[in-house]
Amino acid sequence: MKAAMKAVVFEGAGRAGVRDREPPPFGSGDVLVKVAVSGVCGTDRAIVLGEFPALRGVVLGHEAAGEVAATGPGVGSVAPGDRVVVNPTYYCSRCRPCRRGLPAHCAAKEGREVGVDRDGTMAGFAVVPEHFVHRLPAGVSFRRGALVEPLACVLNNLRAARPRWDDRVLVLGAGPIGALCAMVLASRGARVALAERDPGRAEIARGLLPPTVRVQAPEEAARARGPAPDVVVDTTGSAPGGVLDAVAPGGTVVVMGEREAAVAAVPLRALVTRGIRLVGAGPYRPADFELAVELARDLPLERLVTHVLPLERFTEALALLAVAPAGDGGGGDGYGGDGYSAMKVLLTPDGSPVS
Ligand SMILES: [Zn+2]
Ligand SMILES: [Zn+2]
Repeated sequence: MKAAMKAVVFEGAGRAGVRDREPPPFGSGDVLVKVAVSGVCGTDRAIVLGEFPALRGVVLGHEAAGEVAATGPGVGSVAPGDRVVVNPTYYCSRCRPCRRGLPAHCAAKEGREVGVDRDGTMAGFAVVPEHFVHRLPAGVSFRRGALVEPLACVLNNLRAARPRWDDRVLVLGAGPIGALCAMVLASRGARVALAERDPGRAEIARGLLPPTVRVQAPEEAARARGPAPDVVVDTTGSAPGGVLDAVAPGGTVVVMGEREAAVAAVPLRALVTRGIRLVGAGPYRPADFELAVELARDLPLERLVTHVLPLERFTEALALLAVAPAGDGGGGDGYGGDGYSAMKVLLTPDGSPVS
């Protein structure tokens, strides 16, 4: 295990590559995880492009499943050989927000953000404090396990929406997050539509979601007859302010996509006169992650996985997430590209096939 491992290392804006690294040292309370798969997400891409601040020299990756290789002294909940997933949203338990039951808003995040300012999971091995290692339910594949973290994000945001059982829900954007939103809602019997501009991505979404989910172009969704949606979940991060008029009276709009430059002119009057709630959920709570692990027993999350590539092909993996250049006529909403052929891309450290 002392042999060097491969890792995707961030080396400053515009630069990231596969490098040889020593396996990370681990101490008391730590778990050494042999990574099986690590998902590539928009955050990784934003870091590499210099749009999301990260520590130079950090190993990227925060959506991982793998096997416990070794444990440090004092670790009792997992043992070598256990199949696990990593909750990369660390918190300290000691700061004021943590003590008030708001660990998602932990004030001591610095140096604790996996794949951002602390070495992440796009590597042969990752060291994770025991507290943030969860055993995968029996029979859940690594491919499915890699989607638990994005699922936790989704559950957090859907919880913030507080949908009623008879709500109609419209999800904007059929990227991995939008598709997961639709999958969870459909599994709960909700009436859900998914609006996606890119025909390629819409096609992939249609193929992986139950037939009860309507996947439509945004214009088509806007023209659809019937009652307006009671809940709109925007995963594009750039829904126009007009979305407040499109939601039913008393309805809720959840802003989930995160784009630094996104600014919308919001007709505040709609909040007042039509009783619309415009909400943001923040990072997920430990309980959301716990629930995501549990739901992974039944939700076919691995259906989102379109590509599994070896770490060496990291650059290609990022390119698969590429979006159309600004000025594509659709407001450059980041989901308006043509010809997406990927939904979720996973990386494997050694390129061997994974279940
Ligand atoms: Zn992510
Ligand atoms: Zn804290």
